[in-house]
Amino acid sequence: MDIFHGTCPLGYKRDETKKVRIDDTTKDIIIRIFNLYLEGKSYQTIANILNEEKVLSPKKWRDSKIEKIINNRIYVGDYERFKRVAKEQRKEPIIYPNVIEPIITKAMFEDVQIQKEKNQRAYCRDRVYIFMQKMICPKCGKIMQCKGTGGKKKKYMYYHCTDCKIYLREDLIEEQVMPMIMDLIEYDMTVKKYFYPVLADKKERNTAKLDKEISSLQNRKNRIKEAYLKEIVDVEEFSKEYKEVDEKLNLLEQKRIEAIDLNKQTFSPQHLMADRDVEKEKLIRSNKFYDMLMAEWKNKDKEEKQEFISKFLESITVEKDKKGKYELVNMKLRKTFIEQVYKLMQNGMFDMTIADEKDKEVRTTVMMDKQELQDYIERLNEYYEVSYYEVARLDEQKKGYQKKYLTIDEINDNGEKLFKLVELVTDDKKYPQKKVNRIVGAIRVKEREKVSWKF
Ligand SMILES: [Zn+2]
Repeated sequence: MDIFHGTCPLGYKRDETKKVRIDDTTKDIIIRIFNLYLEGKSYQTIANILNEEKVLSPKKWRDSKIEKIINNRIYVGDYERFKRVAKEQRKEPIIYPNVIEPIITKAMFEDVQIQKEKNQRAYCRDRVYIFMQKMICPKCGKIMQCKGTGGKKKKYMYYHCTDCKIYLREDLIEEQVMPMIMDLIEYDMTVKKYFYPVLADKKERNTAKLDKEISSLQNRKNRIKEAYLKEIVDVEEFSKEYKEVDEKLNLLEQKRIEAIDLNKQTFSPQHLMADRDVEKEKLIRSNKFYDMLMAEWKNKDKEEKQEFISKFLESITVEKDKKGKYELVNMKLRKTFIEQVYKLMQNGMFDMTIADEKDKEVRTTVMMDKQELQDYIERLNEYYEVSYYEVARLDEQKKGYQKKYLTIDEINDNGEKLFKLVELVTDDKKYPQKKVNRIVGAIRVKEREKVSWKF
């Protein structure tokens, strides 16, 4: 069967009897092109290499030519008939297998198909901006636009304001917001690991309708993203629509949080928090805490990072001085997130780290009542020998604590380590806005093993 009607594809030639055979002078070029592609090089890079080396000069290599070679099954010996027509009609072409001596093995051709998918994904990743629709121009306050995609050469991704001519590099912004990201990751992990499972268990039926709406919006969001990655819409068009959907989603999630009544829960949040604190303490003691958070962030791909930022942050403002030094000016958290934290806080299920006078970080809960403190200590007691000390009482007349920050020794005379500061509400827990009597207490711990000889 004469399949080529005249011209042969590169790597083949016609012998004296007009039969198509492998052309020994050009077949190595084909093998090399496949090898270069498997090394992860793009069509354009391969074309550049061949042009530079003047391969088959004066022939000019183009990326489209390389793409055709990579996608041509003839090199494994199969002939695809009506390939172009089939593509136009979105049908599979007819394949005649083993019509010609192959230059490339079937295994190599399969590898190339896998590589093609990998390259496609890498290309998509390069088009995702982590802080899309979140960067605020430090001069005029408008949302900054995304500019510069990864593409062929290694380029930086920027956010820019056309009016003020300000450009900010994405990698340097990320560096600036890193400490805050670490806090958010810690929060996210805690909530996912300790609180969500419990809430999911006890979820009331009235969120079912909301859940459905949320998931349909989520799907829409994914479709918009897909269209952008497939280059059906451009970045500006995409990011505006994306933000719109994201905001609707945000509202629904806020509603869902409101629908979940934490007060109805029968579990003890203090036990959960104690478990969390013990786990954290173990990681801190083995110096692995920060690494663990960092790894959690670094293991995310760009799309996941973008989702994460979008979930927690409303806006970020970063300034660049004349020397090109970046500084974080402002960061606004999303309403949904604040709402969620507040809800957890009201239920004694959230704590935060504050700096004391010596700038040392101390963990503190926002509020607990006596029963909750007892629950907390009871669970902690399974791991450590726990002591509780009163540190300060709220002075009603002076409208607040005597000192804004408290300096407390990390280790006291008894060799007990400061574990946590707690704010104890002595009367009306349900109304935290109301003036109530409050006590600041310190929970100190000792390793159980070290004191076990006492018993
Ligand atoms: Zn501006």
